[in-house]
Amino acid sequence: MRVLVTGAAGFLGSHLCDRLIAEGHQVIGMDNFITGRPENLAHLEGEKDFSFIEHDVSEFINLPGSKLDAVMHFASPASPNPNSPYGYVNLPIQTMKAGGLGTLNSLGVARAYGARFLLASTSEIYGDPQVHPQPESYWGHVNPIGVRSVYDEAKRFAEALTLAYHRFHGIDTRIVRIFNTYGPRMRLDDGRAVPNFLNQALTGQPLTVYGNGSQTRSFCYVDDLIEGIYRLLLSDEHRPVNIGNPSEITILELAQIINSLLENPSEVVFLPDKRGEGDPERRRPDISRAKEVLGWQPTVDLQEGLTRTLPYFQAYKQTP
Ligand code: NAD
Ligand code: UDP
Repeated sequence: MRVLVTGAAGFLGSHLCDRLIAEGHQVIGMDNFITGRPENLAHLEGEKDFSFIEHDVSEFINLPGSKLDAVMHFASPASPNPNSPYGYVNLPIQTMKAGGLGTLNSLGVARAYGARFLLASTSEIYGDPQVHPQPESYWGHVNPIGVRSVYDEAKRFAEALTLAYHRFHGIDTRIVRIFNTYGPRMRLDDGRAVPNFLNQALTGQPLTVYGNGSQTRSFCYVDDLIEGIYRLLLSDEHRPVNIGNPSEITILELAQIINSLLENPSEVVFLPDKRGEGDPERRRPDISRAKEVLGWQPTVDLQEGLTRTLPYFQAYKQTP
């Protein structure tokens, strides 16, 4: 296949490009580097099956070539942390444009070429969920004017638009609802819990737990996620599919597990004032649909995934 990947210079986009190339596909990566980094794609320089176009997907997309088989739309800021310049709360208009206009333009490309379309959606469309764990049938609990709404509502709009193109134009669409994923190539300073804690632990700084640390998440290792997404791309499932690791822990436990991997554990500090508005209390995917239609479930546990992630953070750790 010839595949367009938007957000290719980001954490997930770059791993997706690697997987597609490894499967023998040709990849066109597209990114404007608003939160991504050229370094994430540096290893693909000279790769015959990879080309790159620097472009903002919220502007009309012109592609070279007459054949395209799939569009995978991953371009969007993804970290909620208001304390990071890369957090979507600090990029509100760009985030709505990537999820809104970027999805419209990416679907337009899929329609023009008769290509399959896969949307990277998110567990954030469930908001601060009142149903636990979250199945795809849950409609969510999102404040439409909260600070997180720029991301949540853009992704909800993106899902609705994807289904509109499917129903009205007959586009062959997929929607993956991605739950918290971690691994090498995450931006050290994007403010998400895993990169913050790993970088803090490796540089001997205190681990900053926001609130009392009793909020939960379920963390998936990147290779597991990409496997699920690749299977979804090849499937004929048009309904949204949750992909994530259902093993749920508190954020305090995450800090303690990261500390336990290192010889010199850091202090854990509690910062109640940094707990952002709308920060979900609990999050865990119900992955029954992924198991049933894709035969997929995660295989890498947190201990193992963090151990595989450590060398990257070791190499790039930053002392602020
Ligand atoms: P990331 O910030 O590392 O990657 C996003 C990429 O999109 C970056 O390279 C950025 O420069 C690019 N981008 C943003 N706006 C753009 C635009 N207008 N034009 C072109 N490129 C643009 O984040 P990530 O964690 O890799 O997330 C990738 C996708 O997966 C996002 O759509 C995100 O919403 C979704 N997602 C990720 C997670 C996760 O846990 N990592 C969870 C849920 C959903
Ligand atoms: N968090 C934290 N300390 C940090 C960064 C994040 O305690 O340094 C918390 C954050 O408040 C949230 C959880 O960790 O409750 C997960 O945050 P993340 O930004 O990784 O992703 P989210 O699931 O909120 O999108």
